[in-house]
Amino acid sequence: MSVKNIEHIIAPPPPHMVGDGFRVHSFFPGGRLIDKKRMSPFFLMDYGARIEFTPAAQPRGVGVHPHAGFETVTIAYHGKIAHHDSAGNSGIIGEGDVQWMTAGSGLLHKEYHEEEYSKTGGPFQMVQLWVNLPAKDKKTAPKYQELTHAGMGRYILPDGESVIDVIAGDYKETKGPAFTFTPMQVMNARLKKGAQTGFTFPAHYNTGFLVIEGQVLINGTPVPADHFVLFKNDGEDVSVEAVENAIVLVLSGEPIDEPIAAYGPFLMNTWAEVEQAIQDVNAGKFGMLED
Ligand code: MN
Repeated sequence: MSVKNIEHIIAPPPPHMVGDGFRVHSFFPGGRLIDKKRMSPFFLMDYGARIEFTPAAQPRGVGVHPHAGFETVTIAYHGKIAHHDSAGNSGIIGEGDVQWMTAGSGLLHKEYHEEEYSKTGGPFQMVQLWVNLPAKDKKTAPKYQELTHAGMGRYILPDGESVIDVIAGDYKETKGPAFTFTPMQVMNARLKKGAQTGFTFPAHYNTGFLVIEGQVLINGTPVPADHFVLFKNDGEDVSVEAVENAIVLVLSGEPIDEPIAAYGPFLMNTWAEVEQAIQDVNAGKFGMLED
């Protein structure tokens, strides 16, 4: 086994608003990851770094919009998010919870701050990933996996306090609850000051760590909070040490080596499929949902 070396440590790009509720740093695609497949199967990562929202009578958020051809994975660290979709599903993503939504053949949804959270305001911090689907599964029926914090795979480190919350894949044989269409590992390493641990991924898996909280040493190199570490595909082993209490979002997955045609909320293999998805939305085939 050999070290998986750091390719880039990426500072958070300037944020932009998604609707009026999500102030996000879009780490990829774009910038250093201009190659849309550089983190495949992860296509997009929007990071809502921690901010304080003031109380609001009307929940902030983003109104009705479609998705098709991939999965949205929403990970809440602070605050609460409510969602509703065109199939009549709804739910709340609380702190530590993950919503793994398979858009597949297509749906409409809306994402807002949860009502009680909106009224009180307070800290808000979240990540949304777009996970690509392989061509054979792009038309799969939409579905949700509501993954609560209590239901994550929990691997407790030798200090007895640091925990690896496994969302998908596994960590030292502790499995995460998420079903995935292609092999990947998604986890939150919640480390107490001084904790050290290691991760092993196949060399060809695309791998990146987002430091959610606290400063860490990754392969001995200091990485501040809110920074993203992109790894080379040159080895298997990564070491992490918490300089202070820290949370690190760990992403690693087998690349999907298929063409990408990405436009707005559609992630297809060909432009003809994108055109078809747009026509389907306009024809009402993704259902109806009120703002
Ligand atoms: Mn959405």
